[in-house]
Formats: sequence, C-alpha cells, structure tokens
Amino acid sequence: MLPNANKMTDAYSIVAAASFAAERHRHQRRKDDAATPYINHPLIVAQFLSMAEVADIDVLVAALLHDTVEDTETTIDEIAEHFGQRVAALVAEVTDDRTLPKAERKRVEVERVAGKSAGARLIKVADKIANLRDIADHPPQWDAARTAAYRQFAADMIARARGLNATLDAMADAELQRAGLA
Ligand code: ZN
Repeated sequence: MLPNANKMTDAYSIVAAASFAAERHRHQRRKDDAATPYINHPLIVAQFLSMAEVADIDVLVAALLHDTVEDTETTIDEIAEHFGQRVAALVAEVTDDRTLPKAERKRVEVERVAGKSAGARLIKVADKIANLRDIADHPPQWDAARTAAYRQFAADMIARARGLNATLDAMADAELQRAGLA
C-alpha cells in the first residue's frame, strides 16, 4: 500500500516510510554470513538517529528511505510524491552520484559531505556507524584489505560529516575505536 501524502501525521509518515522501504528492499540481503534482510539496515540507521534525540521527522523518514534510490528502482520523484519535497531532497543528498565513475564515487562522496544539509550529514554519520557496527558484529565475506579500506572510508566520512550531534558523535567514536581507528 503506497503512502498517502495527505495523511502525513508524524506517526503515519514514519510507519509508512518503514513499510515502503521494506517493500522496496524485500528481495535484498546484507552481505554478512546470516544474509540479514536489507531492511534491518535503514531501520537501525533511523533508530540511531532517534537514540541521539534527532526529532526532525523528515530526517527520520529520509533515514528509513536513504538507500531506496541508490539500491532499488525507486526514484526521487516517487519519494517526493509520497513523502514530500524535503524528504526527497534529503534522500537525493545521501544518494551516490552515479554520473561519476565507480572508483571515484566514494572519494567524491566524502569530499562533498561537509557541504550538505545538517539532516543529510546526520544520516551519513548514522549510516557509517551502522556499517562499522555490522562489519564488527556480522563480518561480510571480504578480505582484510577490503574491510580495512571500507573502515577508513567510513572514518573519513564521519570526520567530515560530524559536529552536529554530540550523542551521535560519541556513538561514532565508540565504533571507530572498536574498529581500531580512534
Ligand atoms: Zn545505508
């Protein structure tokens, strides 16, 4: 069932976004041994933000939807239609620029993050906390070099995106420490 933009109470928006993301990611799995359903990832990203007392509903909704455009057939226009322009703009900000060659994408993403909106930066920090935590708790089948490279990328992203929420930054520091990066 697609969300109705005319019914957007805060509770409706959050539940609708979780449900929409679950539907879009339904055939996707994380790359860990347990092949965890993909939806666990956006749910924990949104939960980290709410644990850090981020109360901006559009940011929480965008966190739930943050990988739908990058990793599924969902378009920014669809997000705008169902969740409004601000949520769509936030999701666009946290979606990789696919016009760039793949090798450059991560570096450019790190370079650009400091110039993004506060909401987008909060989502980026929570996303990287979640991924570092997953690598530590449920290691993907990566070799050591790939794991080290991803951890360094996450550390670089956090370094440039942080500074907006002390609780979230402390959560990031704890994961960086666990990864041997702080
Ligand atoms: Zn993500």
